Amino acid sequence: MTVSSTWSSRPKTRGMVLDLIRAARAISRVELAAATGLTQPTISEVVRDLIADGLVLEAGRGASTGGKPPVLMQLNPQARYSVGVQLERNTCVIVVVDLAGRPVARTSFHGTASMPPEQALPMVAAQINALLATAAVDRDKVLGVGLVSYGPQDRAAGVLLTPQPTTQWLGYPLAQQLSQRLGLPVLLDNDAAAAAIGEYWLGTVDPRTTYGCIYMATGIGGGVVVAGELYRGSSSNTVEIGHISIDVNGDECTCGNLGCLEGYAGPSAVVRQALTTPGLTQRLSLDPTAQDLLTEFTRIAAAANAGDPQARTLIETSARHLGCAAVTLTCMFDLDLIVLAGPSFAVAGTIYQTVIQQEVDRRTFARHAHPVRVVPSISGSDAAAIGGAVLMLQSQLTHGSPRHHRSTPTPTK
Ligand SMILES: [Zn+2]
Repeated sequence: MTVSSTWSSRPKTRGMVLDLIRAARAISRVELAAATGLTQPTISEVVRDLIADGLVLEAGRGASTGGKPPVLMQLNPQARYSVGVQLERNTCVIVVVDLAGRPVARTSFHGTASMPPEQALPMVAAQINALLATAAVDRDKVLGVGLVSYGPQDRAAGVLLTPQPTTQWLGYPLAQQLSQRLGLPVLLDNDAAAAAIGEYWLGTVDPRTTYGCIYMATGIGGGVVVAGELYRGSSSNTVEIGHISIDVNGDECTCGNLGCLEGYAGPSAVVRQALTTPGLTQRLSLDPTAQDLLTEFTRIAAAANAGDPQARTLIETSARHLGCAAVTLTCMFDLDLIVLAGPSFAVAGTIYQTVIQQEVDRRTFARHAHPVRVVPSISGSDAAAIGGAVLMLQSQLTHGSPRHHRSTPTPTK
């Protein structure tokens, strides 16, 4: 079997039908025709192709509406796989997901961001190969790799446009080099955007919902999904809510803006405030010289959960600032739902959810027109890596115009 066999003369129609089957979990040909506006013969032909490619299975019969009960279609989750890689400042997370976006294998390790990319990428490639072998996933069924990281990025070129974590990463051909090492297509995308689309593919949000995602790891990002598609803007560097100004007289941020939200609400800000709060450093055994900010932040979040009043004040202050960003998002995009994703919500997620929901209820412009719910991501800390894998599935299977780097593997020396 080859992946190219999944492409027919009408990839867009195939993509649309496949996406409907995925979203519905089980759906009949008649329902597909009604949902797409296509004729029954066209639907039958497309479904026949999808079954022949192994992407779709017949899954028993539905309820009768008078005549013979209709045959239901469902996705075959084991038909294809995809790999998601999240490169963060402190951690690299790798997941393998099935066609339904469900993780079947996962690993994580430290250190990649402190290395130059020439050293980090071979390590990432080796870990991907090992994970695919451990999960016993047939490599022919792997559609590719969604590599996600922070922005700004040139998504089409597959390069980061930021000298972080070190200057060697700026402009380095990340996607192309990783593709060459693996012999698999690789796309580069924003971690927060990936986290946002992952929720859609995993079926946790209504496909008609316009929703936003606030993603917090070391930094803060966001994504907005409209009718199952990421809102891309002109260069896919959208919804950078960590870098909206909340103080025009604030300090200059690394991004060039003044008084960015990240400097008030992000883990680095919370840790900085904790270190200057009398007694807290000793009480929580914080390390003022620590490079791994997330570990220090996690201590503060855990103390807030356990009822430490000073830690709780710091986390609630961070949450109120994020609430301000959430209100900005709802005002700009008229959202129904805000998903909180990423490792920095893992410990004190309930405090964040409660405070952000309060701010949204109190301050959103359209609050009298419809409610806006604030919910945790189904994928939690791994939302970006899973979302990266989902972006590759979506790009290959439902868009009909894959946008990624594909290189032939470099022979092993
Ligand atoms: Zn900024």
